[in-house]
Amino acid sequence: MSAQVESGFAAPVLNDYAALRSSFQWKDAFALLSGLPEHKGLNIAYEAVDRHAASALAQRTAIRWIRKDRTSRDFTYAELRELTNQFANVLEQLGIQKGDRVFAFTGRIPELYISALGTLKKAAVFCPLFSVFGPEPVFQRLSRGDARVLVTTLDQYDKKIKGILPRLPELEWVLLTDAETHLNGKVKSLALLMKDASPEFRIPVTLPEDPALLHFTSGTTGMPKGALHVHNAVVMHLITGKYVLDFHDDDVYWCTADPGWVTGTSYGILSPLVNGITNIVDEEEFDAARWYSILEDHKVNVWYTAPTAIRRLMRMSIKPRSQYNLENLRLILSVGEPLHPEAVRWAQQTFEVPVLDNWWQTETGGIMISNYRSMEVRPGSMGKPLPGIEAAIGEIKDSGIELINEPGKQGNLILKKGWPSMFRTYLHEEARYDKCFHGDWYVTGDLAYRDADGYFWFVGRADDIIKTSGHMVGPFEVESTLMEHPAVGEAAVIGKPEPTIGELVKGFVVLKPGQIPDDALKLDIIGFARKKMGAAVAPKEIAFVTSLPKTRSGKILRRLLKARELGLPEGDTSTLEQS
Ligand code: ATP
Ligand code: MG
Repeated sequence: MSAQVESGFAAPVLNDYAALRSSFQWKDAFALLSGLPEHKGLNIAYEAVDRHAASALAQRTAIRWIRKDRTSRDFTYAELRELTNQFANVLEQLGIQKGDRVFAFTGRIPELYISALGTLKKAAVFCPLFSVFGPEPVFQRLSRGDARVLVTTLDQYDKKIKGILPRLPELEWVLLTDAETHLNGKVKSLALLMKDASPEFRIPVTLPEDPALLHFTSGTTGMPKGALHVHNAVVMHLITGKYVLDFHDDDVYWCTADPGWVTGTSYGILSPLVNGITNIVDEEEFDAARWYSILEDHKVNVWYTAPTAIRRLMRMSIKPRSQYNLENLRLILSVGEPLHPEAVRWAQQTFEVPVLDNWWQTETGGIMISNYRSMEVRPGSMGKPLPGIEAAIGEIKDSGIELINEPGKQGNLILKKGWPSMFRTYLHEEARYDKCFHGDWYVTGDLAYRDADGYFWFVGRADDIIKTSGHMVGPFEVESTLMEHPAVGEAAVIGKPEPTIGELVKGFVVLKPGQIPDDALKLDIIGFARKKMGAAVAPKEIAFVTSLPKTRSGKILRRLLKARELGLPEGDTSTLEQS
């Protein structure tokens, strides 16, 4: 199926994948950046804000912030430059040095974006946290991340921070976005400090390898790891914005991810700004009608979201194309989990635009494998590696990595190390970091295969693979089949230990509205899966559930389903979404 359901939109930025891949050179990509004008160096915030503020884009809206009540406020690139300069000056006055860690723990409010970019200007390291975390996950991350500054709100401070402060001796400053006065010598009003700070700031020497961002992983497979990224990553934010997100001049773009998850920073702040377009930020959480209205009212051209959101929309009876005017929408993209073929087909038919799945991780800092607007979409495939990125399938041997070139053969998804946005360490876990690398290759922890035409297909996380009757079963394949059953809205599959066959495939199913969860339907779903997949691979047990446990970033927590099924401890649940 061709991805192109085009109607008069400008041609894709990347119009010939094969040609660009063969001619691509990193130095050409770096040449698209400005570099710091006063000295040799590279600073993400300069590329994202200041260079546009000094150009014809100065009065363009950089960020349109939509409040919970649906009113909005626009920040131009020129305004953003001044506000982020003020924040950098506040840090300077507080004695913050290059490399110090500045955390934000707020909802999606302007101060979050201003502090992110202002911190980068100061060459300090920014770390955003999900605002829904309770005190303990916040404490864990602040202490593991050696936080010196925390930007938060009065409400969060009262409810979650005050109590953990005595355990955080290294945390020197707490800046409250909405306090009118300073609370004490340590807890200050950010607004007051900003008011007195100059809107002019000289970015200090920043080298491409200087640390810039600290991101904790989603915790899908265990305790979240702190991945550290450097300023050089900005080239990845730049080119993936062009080649994958297909940014054109004047585009309005909306990434629904919260900056507490890497997608919400790399693609909810940096990539659109580095590319000089207008970035929509919505303060509110998922709400189908609201989301469709935002796409309509703000004339969104490019929309980056996640499989969990697409699956939720699929379960509803809303007809977006007829109920809303979405004529400006050109492209939808998805990341974070596998996007089932059924979801791709539904979304492409429903929105009448290409729907492009792509794959990356906190550790990779930017999109690594993707579908492209100009390339045929094979529903269920993650697509092909970005120009400049080498991805492969390999087996880990004592002697090192053995590449698997045979089409269709599963193995570890690996990346040739050294791309600019590669993480530089797991904070305080150097040994764990080293273990991810084998020779020239970074081992992602995911299993996949490549087809004869070079498309990559996700099989599952290495930890989630089910070994049943001598077969290795990836949950994604089984879940995708379950999703094709007309009664199934969402599905997750685990392996349940069983003495004769090793593990038994068990499916947890959320039904579509109006379906009756009885034994007849269970048998029908099992029969359906058997017919499609064969008895060895199809689930032997089905349980109906009203929802699936997910991370804050919307990923299904299979390890939690398994622990609950087996009555084992649940492990780290700091990123569990409480619905
Ligand atoms: P943790 O590492 O703490 O267990 P996590 O791996 O979920 O959490 P992230 O870095 O947010 O943390 O997620 C990256 C992972 O998400 C990938 O390794 C992969 O398993 C999954 N993923 C992301 N995008 C896709 C996609 N398009 N298709 C399939 N899986 C995806
Ligand atoms: Mg991971």
